[in-house]
Amino acid sequence: MIIKDEQGMLAAGKQLALKLKAGMIVFLEGDLGAGKTTLVRGILQGLGHQGAVKSPTYNLVEPYIINDQPVFHFDWYRVKDAEELEYMGIRDYFNNESICFVEWPVNGGDLLTEPDLLIKINIYGTERELLISNYKDS
Ligand code: ADP
Ligand code: MG
Repeated sequence: MIIKDEQGMLAAGKQLALKLKAGMIVFLEGDLGAGKTTLVRGILQGLGHQGAVKSPTYNLVEPYIINDQPVFHFDWYRVKDAEELEYMGIRDYFNNESICFVEWPVNGGDLLTEPDLLIKINIYGTERELLISNYKDS
């Protein structure tokens, strides 16, 4: 799917929100500035979130509760060793109740099992290509 601008990315996120259920893990791949955080912002808005959506680059995780649904947005760009994530008890976040979004999942090493959804974003100037793979049929 080709996304023309930031508004288009937010709209794609709102559509994606309709597919999400408790327990799902979504990986987001793509270079810096690809629009991973922008897409998550659209998804969170689609789930009913009203406030701001900060990039979790510095604190590694940003938690939300949206209509009683726990949601965690991770960004592991700055993680150098997956052990950092073990220390912060990252495994506990991934459970049947929460929905988790992970930017830079590669930096989590073997910590995570495969996602339910893998979203890859490629940059073509101001356009973005969105590739979505379903891993588990849940
Ligand atoms: P990432 O989380 O992948 O590093 P961000 O979502 O933080 O990326 O930033 C994406 C940036 O690219 C934003 O500044 C946004 O305005 C800009 N942008 C330009 N064109 C697009 C597009 N088609 N889709 C999404 N973002 C876009
Ligand atoms: Mg980001």
